[in-house]
Amino acid sequence: MADLSLRHVNKKYSSNTSAVKDFSIDIEDEEFVVLVGPSGCGKTTLLRMIAGLEDLTDGEIYIDGRRVNQLSAKDRDIAMVFQNYALYPHMTVYDNMGFALKLKNLKKKDINRKIEEAAKILGIEHLMDRRPAALSGGEKQRVALGRAIVREPKIFLMDEPLANLDVQLRGQMRIEITKLHKTLKSTMIYVTHDQIEAMTMGDRIVVMKDGEVQQIDTPENIYNHPANLFVAGFIGSPQMNILEGTVHQQNNIAVVRLIDGTELAIEADMAEILLDKGYNDKNIYAGIRPEHLNAVVKSSPDKKMTYISGEVEVIENTGADVYLHLKKCGIKMIAKISKIAEIELEDQVNIAVNPSDIHFFDEETGEAII
Ligand code: ATP
Repeated sequence: MADLSLRHVNKKYSSNTSAVKDFSIDIEDEEFVVLVGPSGCGKTTLLRMIAGLEDLTDGEIYIDGRRVNQLSAKDRDIAMVFQNYALYPHMTVYDNMGFALKLKNLKKKDINRKIEEAAKILGIEHLMDRRPAALSGGEKQRVALGRAIVREPKIFLMDEPLANLDVQLRGQMRIEITKLHKTLKSTMIYVTHDQIEAMTMGDRIVVMKDGEVQQIDTPENIYNHPANLFVAGFIGSPQMNILEGTVHQQNNIAVVRLIDGTELAIEADMAEILLDKGYNDKNIYAGIRPEHLNAVVKSSPDKKMTYISGEVEVIENTGADVYLHLKKCGIKMIAKISKIAEIELEDQVNIAVNPSDIHFFDEETGEAII
Protein backbone atom coordinates (compact mmCIF):
# COMPACT_ATOMS: atom_id res chain seq x y z
CA MET A 1 0.00 0.00 0.00
CA ALA A 2 1.08 3.58 -0.33
CA ASP A 3 1.02 7.15 0.75
CA LEU A 4 -0.19 9.81 -1.62
CA SER A 5 0.56 13.52 -1.82
CA LEU A 6 -1.18 16.14 -3.91
CA ARG A 7 0.59 19.48 -4.15
CA HIS A 8 -1.19 22.57 -5.48
CA VAL A 9 -3.21 20.51 -7.95
CA ASN A 10 -5.29 22.50 -10.43
CA LYS A 11 -7.59 21.42 -13.21
CA LYS A 12 -9.09 23.68 -15.84
CA TYR A 13 -11.22 22.06 -18.52
CA SER A 14 -11.37 25.34 -20.41
CA SER A 15 -9.93 28.79 -19.82
CA ASN A 16 -12.86 29.85 -17.65
CA THR A 17 -13.85 26.70 -15.73
CA SER A 18 -11.66 25.64 -12.84
CA ALA A 19 -12.83 22.22 -11.69
CA VAL A 20 -10.12 21.87 -9.00
CA LYS A 21 -8.22 24.79 -7.46
CA ASP A 22 -4.93 24.58 -5.59
CA PHE A 23 -5.72 21.27 -3.92
CA SER A 24 -3.08 19.94 -1.52
CA ILE A 25 -3.21 16.97 0.85
CA ASP A 26 -0.86 14.35 2.29
CA ILE A 27 -2.63 11.00 2.66
CA GLU A 28 -0.86 8.42 4.79
CA ASP A 29 -0.38 4.77 3.97
CA GLU A 30 -3.50 2.80 5.05
CA GLU A 31 -5.54 5.97 5.59
CA PHE A 32 -9.22 6.13 4.60
CA VAL A 33 -10.08 9.60 3.29
CA VAL A 34 -13.63 10.60 2.37
CA LEU A 35 -14.26 13.40 -0.15
CA VAL A 36 -17.57 15.25 0.15
CA GLY A 37 -19.08 18.33 -1.43
CA PRO A 38 -21.99 19.44 -3.59
CA SER A 39 -22.48 18.19 -7.12
CA GLY A 40 -19.91 19.67 -9.51
CA CYS A 41 -17.36 20.64 -6.83
CA GLY A 42 -14.60 18.59 -8.46
CA LYS A 43 -14.58 15.28 -6.57
CA THR A 44 -14.63 12.99 -9.61
CA THR A 45 -12.11 15.18 -11.44
CA LEU A 46 -9.76 14.83 -8.48
CA LEU A 47 -10.10 11.02 -8.41
CA ARG A 48 -9.55 10.83 -12.17
CA MET A 49 -6.37 12.90 -11.89
CA ILE A 50 -5.05 10.64 -9.12
CA ALA A 51 -5.88 7.57 -11.22
CA GLY A 52 -4.09 9.04 -14.25
CA LEU A 53 -7.28 9.26 -16.33
CA GLU A 54 -7.11 13.06 -16.51
CA ASP A 55 -4.11 15.37 -16.94
CA LEU A 56 -3.36 18.04 -14.35
CA THR A 57 -3.35 21.66 -15.51
CA ASP A 58 -0.91 22.45 -12.73
CA GLY A 59 0.53 20.86 -9.58
CA GLU A 60 2.03 17.55 -8.64
CA ILE A 61 0.98 14.09 -7.51
CA TYR A 62 3.35 11.80 -5.60
CA ILE A 63 2.82 8.15 -4.74
CA ASP A 64 5.29 6.85 -2.14
CA GLY A 65 7.39 9.94 -2.77
CA ARG A 66 7.58 9.36 -6.51
CA ARG A 67 6.20 12.02 -8.84
CA VAL A 68 3.61 10.31 -11.05
CA ASN A 69 2.30 13.17 -13.21
CA GLN A 70 3.62 11.60 -16.39
CA LEU A 71 2.87 7.98 -15.44
CA SER A 72 0.01 6.37 -17.40
CA ALA A 73 -3.05 5.04 -15.55
CA LYS A 74 -2.05 1.39 -16.00
CA ASP A 75 1.35 1.99 -14.41
CA ARG A 76 0.07 3.75 -11.30
CA ASP A 77 -1.16 0.61 -9.54
CA ILE A 78 -4.42 2.25 -8.55
CA ALA A 79 -7.88 0.63 -8.75
CA MET A 80 -11.02 2.70 -9.18
CA VAL A 81 -14.55 1.54 -8.31
CA PHE A 82 -17.34 3.47 -10.00
CA GLN A 83 -20.94 4.28 -9.08
CA ASN A 84 -22.23 2.43 -12.18
CA TYR A 85 -20.00 -0.64 -11.46
CA ALA A 86 -18.63 -0.59 -15.06
CA LEU A 87 -18.62 -4.40 -15.37
CA TYR A 88 -18.11 -6.02 -18.79
CA PRO A 89 -21.63 -7.25 -19.65
CA HIS A 90 -20.57 -10.15 -21.90
CA MET A 91 -18.18 -11.65 -19.34
CA THR A 92 -18.94 -13.86 -16.35
CA VAL A 93 -18.20 -12.64 -12.83
CA TYR A 94 -15.06 -14.80 -12.84
CA ASP A 95 -13.82 -13.26 -16.11
CA ASN A 96 -14.70 -9.75 -14.96
CA MET A 97 -12.65 -10.25 -11.82
CA GLY A 98 -9.76 -11.89 -13.63
CA PHE A 99 -9.57 -9.56 -16.61
CA ALA A 100 -6.87 -7.18 -15.34
CA LEU A 101 -4.79 -10.12 -14.08
CA LYS A 102 -4.95 -11.83 -17.48
CA LEU A 103 -3.72 -8.64 -19.11
CA LYS A 104 -0.76 -8.75 -16.74
CA ASN A 105 -0.03 -12.31 -17.98
CA LEU A 106 -0.34 -13.87 -14.53
CA LYS A 107 -0.38 -17.66 -14.36
CA LYS A 108 -3.84 -19.26 -14.39
CA LYS A 109 -3.37 -20.82 -10.97
CA ASP A 110 -2.38 -17.44 -9.44
CA ILE A 111 -5.38 -15.77 -11.06
CA ASN A 112 -7.61 -18.52 -9.65
CA ARG A 113 -6.21 -18.13 -6.16
CA LYS A 114 -6.61 -14.34 -6.12
CA ILE A 115 -10.18 -14.53 -7.42
CA GLU A 116 -11.08 -17.22 -4.88
CA GLU A 117 -9.64 -15.19 -2.03
CA ALA A 118 -11.44 -11.99 -3.05
CA ALA A 119 -14.71 -13.86 -3.71
CA LYS A 120 -14.51 -15.36 -0.23
CA ILE A 121 -13.96 -11.97 1.44
CA LEU A 122 -16.97 -10.57 -0.44
CA GLY A 123 -19.20 -13.67 -0.16
CA ILE A 124 -19.70 -14.02 -3.93
CA GLU A 125 -18.19 -17.49 -4.54
CA HIS A 126 -21.58 -18.76 -5.78
CA LEU A 127 -21.86 -16.08 -8.49
CA MET A 128 -18.72 -16.87 -10.47
CA ASP A 129 -20.50 -18.21 -13.59
CA ARG A 130 -23.15 -15.51 -13.84
CA ARG A 131 -23.12 -12.54 -16.16
CA PRO A 132 -23.74 -9.00 -14.75
CA ALA A 133 -27.31 -8.91 -16.13
CA ALA A 134 -28.18 -11.76 -13.76
CA LEU A 135 -26.91 -9.96 -10.65
CA SER A 136 -28.65 -7.63 -8.20
CA GLY A 137 -27.26 -4.13 -7.61
CA GLY A 138 -25.55 -5.20 -4.39
CA GLU A 139 -24.01 -8.25 -6.08
CA LYS A 140 -22.74 -6.13 -8.98
CA GLN A 141 -21.16 -3.76 -6.49
CA ARG A 142 -19.43 -6.66 -4.75
CA VAL A 143 -18.09 -7.90 -8.09
CA ALA A 144 -16.81 -4.38 -8.89
CA LEU A 145 -15.06 -4.34 -5.52
CA GLY A 146 -13.72 -7.85 -6.17
CA ARG A 147 -12.30 -6.77 -9.49
CA ALA A 148 -10.42 -4.01 -7.67
CA ILE A 149 -9.26 -6.23 -4.79
CA VAL A 150 -7.68 -8.96 -6.96
CA ARG A 151 -5.32 -6.38 -8.43
CA GLU A 152 -3.92 -5.69 -4.95
CA PRO A 153 -3.48 -2.06 -5.90
CA LYS A 154 -1.48 0.45 -3.92
CA ILE A 155 -4.48 2.74 -3.68
CA PHE A 156 -8.26 2.26 -3.99
CA LEU A 157 -10.35 5.11 -5.36
CA MET A 158 -14.12 4.77 -4.95
CA ASP A 159 -16.53 7.17 -6.65
CA GLU A 160 -19.90 6.94 -4.89
CA PRO A 161 -19.84 3.14 -5.07
CA LEU A 162 -23.06 2.72 -3.09
CA ALA A 163 -25.14 5.48 -4.68
CA ASN A 164 -27.33 3.08 -6.70
CA LEU A 165 -28.21 0.78 -3.82
CA ASP A 166 -31.28 0.93 -1.60
CA VAL A 167 -30.91 2.29 1.92
CA GLN A 168 -30.68 -1.08 3.66
CA LEU A 169 -28.09 -2.51 1.29
CA ARG A 170 -26.15 0.74 1.46
CA GLY A 171 -25.93 0.33 5.21
CA GLN A 172 -24.65 -3.25 4.87
CA MET A 173 -22.13 -2.40 2.14
CA ARG A 174 -20.91 0.59 4.12
CA ILE A 175 -19.90 -1.75 6.91
CA GLU A 176 -18.44 -4.27 4.41
CA ILE A 177 -16.21 -1.61 2.85
CA THR A 178 -15.07 -0.36 6.26
CA LYS A 179 -14.17 -3.96 7.22
CA LEU A 180 -12.50 -4.48 3.85
CA HIS A 181 -10.32 -1.46 4.48
CA LYS A 182 -9.22 -2.96 7.79
CA THR A 183 -8.56 -6.39 6.24
CA LEU A 184 -6.67 -5.11 3.21
CA LYS A 185 -4.90 -2.34 5.13
CA SER A 186 -5.22 -0.26 2.01
CA THR A 187 -5.06 3.45 1.28
CA MET A 188 -8.58 4.46 0.21
CA ILE A 189 -10.13 7.63 -1.14
CA TYR A 190 -13.90 7.49 -1.16
CA VAL A 191 -16.29 10.00 -2.72
CA THR A 192 -19.80 10.25 -1.34
CA HIS A 193 -22.84 12.50 -0.99
CA ASP A 194 -24.04 10.51 1.98
CA GLN A 195 -23.69 12.12 5.42
CA ILE A 196 -23.55 8.84 7.30
CA GLU A 197 -20.89 7.39 4.99
CA ALA A 198 -18.83 10.56 5.36
CA MET A 199 -19.08 10.61 9.14
CA THR A 200 -18.59 6.90 9.80
CA MET A 201 -16.18 5.53 7.22
CA GLY A 202 -13.21 7.85 6.98
CA ASP A 203 -10.21 8.60 9.17
CA ARG A 204 -10.43 12.08 7.67
CA ILE A 205 -13.01 14.00 5.65
CA VAL A 206 -12.20 16.52 2.93
CA VAL A 207 -15.03 19.00 2.39
CA MET A 208 -14.90 20.69 -1.03
CA LYS A 209 -16.83 23.53 -2.65
CA ASP A 210 -16.35 24.98 -6.15
CA GLY A 211 -13.11 23.02 -6.60
CA GLU A 212 -11.59 24.30 -3.37
CA VAL A 213 -10.88 22.61 -0.07
CA GLN A 214 -12.99 24.01 2.75
CA GLN A 215 -11.70 21.80 5.55
CA ILE A 216 -9.65 18.62 5.99
CA ASP A 217 -10.01 17.00 9.39
CA THR A 218 -11.31 14.03 11.38
CA PRO A 219 -15.10 13.49 11.20
CA GLU A 220 -15.36 14.51 14.85
CA ASN A 221 -13.55 17.82 14.32
CA ILE A 222 -15.44 18.58 11.12
CA TYR A 223 -18.72 18.09 12.98
CA ASN A 224 -17.77 19.80 16.24
CA HIS A 225 -15.48 22.51 14.89
CA PRO A 226 -16.56 23.39 11.34
CA ALA A 227 -14.08 25.83 9.79
CA ASN A 228 -16.72 27.99 8.13
CA LEU A 229 -20.43 28.44 7.50
CA PHE A 230 -20.34 26.22 4.43
CA VAL A 231 -18.92 23.21 6.31
CA ALA A 232 -21.26 23.90 9.24
CA GLY A 233 -24.24 23.74 6.90
CA PHE A 234 -23.03 20.89 4.72
CA ILE A 235 -22.14 18.36 7.41
CA GLY A 236 -24.99 17.39 9.71
CA SER A 237 -28.58 16.53 8.98
CA PRO A 238 -30.80 18.40 9.59
CA GLN A 239 -28.44 21.32 9.08
CA MET A 240 -26.99 23.45 11.82
CA ASN A 241 -29.32 26.37 12.68
CA ILE A 242 -27.71 29.65 11.65
CA LEU A 243 -29.01 32.71 13.50
CA GLU A 244 -28.09 36.28 12.69
CA GLY A 245 -27.19 38.51 15.63
CA THR A 246 -25.05 41.29 17.06
CA VAL A 247 -22.46 40.96 19.81
CA HIS A 248 -23.02 43.26 22.80
CA GLN A 249 -20.70 43.76 25.73
CA GLN A 250 -22.56 44.07 29.03
CA ASN A 251 -20.13 44.89 31.87
CA ASN A 252 -17.80 41.89 31.97
CA ILE A 253 -19.94 39.60 29.90
CA ALA A 254 -21.12 39.52 26.32
CA VAL A 255 -24.37 38.43 24.74
CA VAL A 256 -25.49 37.91 21.17
CA ARG A 257 -28.68 39.82 20.42
CA LEU A 258 -30.77 38.12 17.74
CA ILE A 259 -32.88 40.04 15.25
CA ASP A 260 -36.02 39.58 17.41
CA GLY A 261 -34.27 41.01 20.48
CA THR A 262 -33.59 37.67 22.22
CA GLU A 263 -30.26 37.75 24.05
CA LEU A 264 -28.23 34.57 24.14
CA ALA A 265 -25.47 34.33 26.72
CA ILE A 266 -21.95 33.75 25.36
CA GLU A 267 -19.54 31.49 27.25
CA ALA A 268 -16.84 33.51 29.07
CA ASP A 269 -13.85 32.27 27.00
CA MET A 270 -15.69 32.84 23.75
CA ALA A 271 -16.86 36.29 24.86
CA GLU A 272 -13.24 37.22 25.53
CA ILE A 273 -12.23 36.06 22.04
CA LEU A 274 -15.08 37.97 20.38
CA LEU A 275 -14.34 41.17 22.28
CA ASP A 276 -10.57 40.85 21.74
CA LYS A 277 -11.15 40.44 18.03
CA GLY A 278 -13.27 43.58 17.88
CA TYR A 279 -16.70 42.01 17.40
CA ASN A 280 -18.43 44.24 19.98
CA ASP A 281 -21.50 45.79 18.28
CA LYS A 282 -20.72 43.83 15.11
CA ASN A 283 -22.98 41.39 13.30
CA ILE A 284 -22.08 37.70 13.46
CA TYR A 285 -23.76 34.37 12.78
CA ALA A 286 -24.48 32.07 15.71
CA GLY A 287 -24.68 28.37 14.75
CA ILE A 288 -26.49 25.80 16.89
CA ARG A 289 -26.96 22.15 15.95
CA PRO A 290 -30.57 20.84 16.20
CA GLU A 291 -29.56 18.40 18.95
CA HIS A 292 -28.31 21.32 21.06
CA LEU A 293 -31.68 23.06 21.06
CA ASN A 294 -33.48 21.48 23.99
CA ALA A 295 -37.21 22.05 24.25
CA VAL A 296 -38.01 22.58 27.91
CA VAL A 297 -41.29 22.00 29.58
CA LYS A 298 -40.32 22.70 33.21
CA SER A 299 -40.51 26.30 34.30
CA SER A 300 -37.50 26.80 36.61
CA PRO A 301 -34.61 27.96 34.42
CA ASP A 302 -31.21 26.29 34.58
CA LYS A 303 -28.47 28.90 35.19
CA LYS A 304 -26.01 27.12 32.91
CA MET A 305 -28.33 27.50 29.95
CA THR A 306 -29.44 30.39 27.79
CA TYR A 307 -32.97 30.51 26.36
CA ILE A 308 -34.79 31.23 23.15
CA SER A 309 -38.50 30.75 22.53
CA GLY A 310 -40.34 29.81 19.37
CA GLU A 311 -43.67 28.68 17.97
CA VAL A 312 -43.97 25.08 16.81
CA GLU A 313 -44.73 25.13 13.08
CA VAL A 314 -44.17 21.49 12.15
CA ILE A 315 -43.56 18.33 14.18
CA GLU A 316 -41.64 15.64 12.26
CA ASN A 317 -41.60 12.25 13.95
CA THR A 318 -39.09 9.85 12.37
CA GLY A 319 -39.75 7.12 14.93
CA ALA A 320 -36.40 7.39 16.68
CA ASP A 321 -36.33 11.18 16.85
CA VAL A 322 -38.70 14.09 16.73
CA TYR A 323 -37.84 17.34 14.97
CA LEU A 324 -39.60 20.53 15.96
CA HIS A 325 -39.62 23.22 13.30
CA LEU A 326 -39.84 26.50 15.17
CA LYS A 327 -40.35 30.06 14.03
CA LYS A 328 -39.96 33.35 15.75
CA CYS A 329 -40.09 36.81 14.16
CA GLY A 330 -38.20 35.85 11.01
CA ILE A 331 -36.00 33.27 12.75
CA LYS A 332 -36.45 29.62 11.76
CA MET A 333 -34.95 26.79 13.78
CA ILE A 334 -35.05 23.01 13.94
CA ALA A 335 -34.76 21.31 17.33
CA LYS A 336 -34.17 17.58 17.71
CA ILE A 337 -35.89 16.06 20.71
CA SER A 338 -36.14 12.44 21.78
CA LYS A 339 -39.90 12.34 22.30
CA ILE A 340 -42.84 14.63 21.70
CA ALA A 341 -43.56 15.10 25.42
CA GLU A 342 -46.59 17.39 25.66
CA ILE A 343 -45.71 19.60 22.72
CA GLU A 344 -48.32 20.39 20.08
CA LEU A 345 -48.51 22.46 16.90
CA GLU A 346 -48.63 26.23 17.49
CA ASP A 347 -47.34 25.84 21.07
CA GLN A 348 -44.88 28.49 22.23
CA VAL A 349 -41.94 26.49 23.53
CA ASN A 350 -38.90 27.56 25.46
CA ILE A 351 -35.64 26.24 24.10
CA ALA A 352 -32.58 25.87 26.31
CA VAL A 353 -29.11 26.13 24.77
CA ASN A 354 -25.82 25.54 26.52
CA PRO A 355 -23.68 28.57 25.58
CA SER A 356 -20.72 26.23 24.99
CA ASP A 357 -22.69 24.62 22.11
CA ILE A 358 -22.95 27.86 20.12
CA HIS A 359 -20.58 28.32 17.15
CA PHE A 360 -19.72 31.81 15.91
CA PHE A 361 -18.97 32.83 12.34
CA ASP A 362 -17.77 36.10 10.83
CA GLU A 363 -20.59 37.79 8.94
CA GLU A 364 -18.44 38.77 5.95
CA THR A 365 -16.02 35.88 5.48
CA GLY A 366 -18.17 33.09 6.95
CA GLU A 367 -15.04 31.82 8.76
CA ALA A 368 -15.47 30.31 12.23
CA ILE A 369 -14.37 32.68 15.00
CA ILE A 370 -12.01 30.78 17.29
P1 ATP B 1 -20.90 15.04 -8.85
O1 ATP B 1 -21.02 14.97 -7.36
O2 ATP B 1 -22.12 15.60 -9.51
O3 ATP B 1 -20.39 13.79 -9.47
P2 ATP B 1 -18.23 16.20 -8.83
O4 ATP B 1 -17.97 16.91 -7.55
O5 ATP B 1 -17.67 14.85 -9.00
O6 ATP B 1 -19.79 16.21 -9.14
P3 ATP B 1 -16.82 16.84 -11.28
O7 ATP B 1 -17.49 15.77 -12.08
O8 ATP B 1 -15.41 16.62 -10.90
O9 ATP B 1 -17.69 17.19 -9.97
O10 ATP B 1 -16.94 18.22 -12.08
C1 ATP B 1 -16.32 19.41 -11.63
C2 ATP B 1 -16.59 20.53 -12.64
O11 ATP B 1 -15.88 20.26 -13.85
C3 ATP B 1 -18.05 20.67 -13.04
O12 ATP B 1 -18.32 22.03 -13.21
C4 ATP B 1 -18.15 19.93 -14.35
O13 ATP B 1 -19.16 20.47 -15.15
C5 ATP B 1 -16.78 20.19 -14.95
N1 ATP B 1 -16.34 19.07 -15.81
C6 ATP B 1 -16.20 17.77 -15.45
N2 ATP B 1 -15.74 17.03 -16.48
C7 ATP B 1 -15.60 17.90 -17.55
C8 ATP B 1 -15.15 17.76 -18.89
N3 ATP B 1 -14.75 16.58 -19.37
N4 ATP B 1 -15.15 18.87 -19.66
C9 ATP B 1 -15.52 20.08 -19.20
N5 ATP B 1 -15.94 20.27 -17.92
C10 ATP B 1 -15.98 19.21 -17.11
